[in-house]
Amino acid sequence: MKELLIISGKGGTGKTSITAAFAALADNKVIADCDVDAADMHLLLQPDVKETHQFYASKVAEIHEDKCVRCGKCIEACRFDAIEDFKINHIYCEGCGVCYRICPQNAITMEDSLSGHWFVSETKHGPMVHAKLGIAEENSGKLVTEVRKAAQKIAQEQNKSLIIIDGPPGIGCPVISSITGVDMVLIVTEPTVAGKHDLERIIKLANHFDVKTAVCINKYDLDERKTLEIENYCKSIGVDVISKIPFDRKVIDALIKGLSIVEYEETSQTASEIKNLWQKVQNML
Ligand code: SF4
Ligand code: SF4
Repeated sequence: MKELLIISGKGGTGKTSITAAFAALADNKVIADCDVDAADMHLLLQPDVKETHQFYASKVAEIHEDKCVRCGKCIEACRFDAIEDFKINHIYCEGCGVCYRICPQNAITMEDSLSGHWFVSETKHGPMVHAKLGIAEENSGKLVTEVRKAAQKIAQEQNKSLIIIDGPPGIGCPVISSITGVDMVLIVTEPTVAGKHDLERIIKLANHFDVKTAVCINKYDLDERKTLEIENYCKSIGVDVISKIPFDRKVIDALIKGLSIVEYEETSQTASEIKNLWQKVQNML
């Protein structure tokens, strides 16, 4: 079983459209949406949720009124101003445990905090694991790990040969959780200053983890000079640009209809370029 991670650094490069097209083209796969802060694959794949799991990543303090003598020591000690009127405000509580340790009455306990949910769903293109992190919650790296573990389990149980991972943005903890142990990273970039900057950062990260990497320049014809700059940069560091996809308004028309471009207009130039890209990715895997 192989794992393919599709990633872009910044948003708006068209990564999810390409991932959704791969989901339509690939046989015998599991889809894992690891963009847990802003998951959007479900908008395209309209999952039928079969399982919902709670995700606990952190702890928050709880004051037990029956034991509290209102001495105020916890309020003084909390650096996050999370205690008001002898009650914990869970939005501000960072779970540091200082109040729990200093309370002379043992009136404070540290409780698991529900940080989000992850789901196992059926879609028109096969099983999908996706997640939703709670508002103001951190630890999305841990949730990415949960999503990947669940996708691997399904792949093993159902004899699937591929996991397609829609990766999170940036280069932080969730991306590191996504990249660890995958067989290949496809970076979807666009010909902009920010696109190139993020591409460079992700390539460095992928090199650090020694993962096979290829680049696809989406909407390449919007700035062909910048496209050439990206191609030259990739060449200079030995990374292959395996596809250049033109800007195509029909990709957006397809998205509005909840379809990928390869389903919406399978004979278009964009659809055929994505099919070629998919063929090259399969060969690299
Ligand atoms: S330190 Fe303990 S006893 Fe004192 S106010 Fe806080 S919870 Fe109540
Ligand atoms: S756990 Fe830390 S942040 Fe939360 S209320 Fe106690 S002292 Fe404040």
